[in-house]
Amino acid sequence: MFNKMSNSNNINYQRILDKEIEKIKNEGKVPRLLLHSCCAPCSSYVLEYLSEYFEITDLYYNPNISPKEEHDFRAAELKRLADEMNFKNKVEVVEGRYNPEDFYEKVKGHENDKEGGERCFICYEMRLREAMEYAKKGGYDYFTTTLSISPLKNAQVLNDIGKKLEEESGVKYLYSDFKKKNGYKRSIELSKEYDLYRQNYCGCVFSKNHNQIDVDN
Ligand code: SF4
Repeated sequence: MFNKMSNSNNINYQRILDKEIEKIKNEGKVPRLLLHSCCAPCSSYVLEYLSEYFEITDLYYNPNISPKEEHDFRAAELKRLADEMNFKNKVEVVEGRYNPEDFYEKVKGHENDKEGGERCFICYEMRLREAMEYAKKGGYDYFTTTLSISPLKNAQVLNDIGKKLEEESGVKYLYSDFKKKNGYKRSIELSKEYDLYRQNYCGCVFSKNHNQIDVDN
């Protein structure tokens, strides 16, 4: 389980990403990036931005999402988006396995946590670990996730998990906070432009039920 014992609260991850991209541009290379994607709206800006510099495999791995129909619909929207957008470098979408029973096992005891708490950190790590393993097997240069674009997601915790997995695997984590540089705003514009389905709950059954209670009240 990931423990939020971070001393990295003041790190500007966008600045770290800017420097990394500058280095890549100077080298004149197009590295291979394994990007974990949670949904089409969050991926829209991240794909537009990163495909300028990377060849991207976009991994849709989200066993947290319930029900399965919702999971599958978000996957279909992501594939449609990637088909309809134009990219400078190659982008391909791959769908990961759907293993919700593993998600429920991992978050056992955290069912009533508030969104943004420990259950979410476990959920981030589960998805990032799958991305890291995919990247390691495939010999990718970097891995990262779209998750930091959401104002509801904790970029410090995401980058701390990325760092831990980088140390464990030897695959470089692309440090990032995609909500910066108006990333979140741009994702809303692109969602409108491509008429993307925008879900009204994060993904798991707990976040769905919580939203339902809010609406009912
Ligand atoms: S609220 Fe979202 S991030 Fe948190 S556990 Fe549920 S699906 Fe995962």
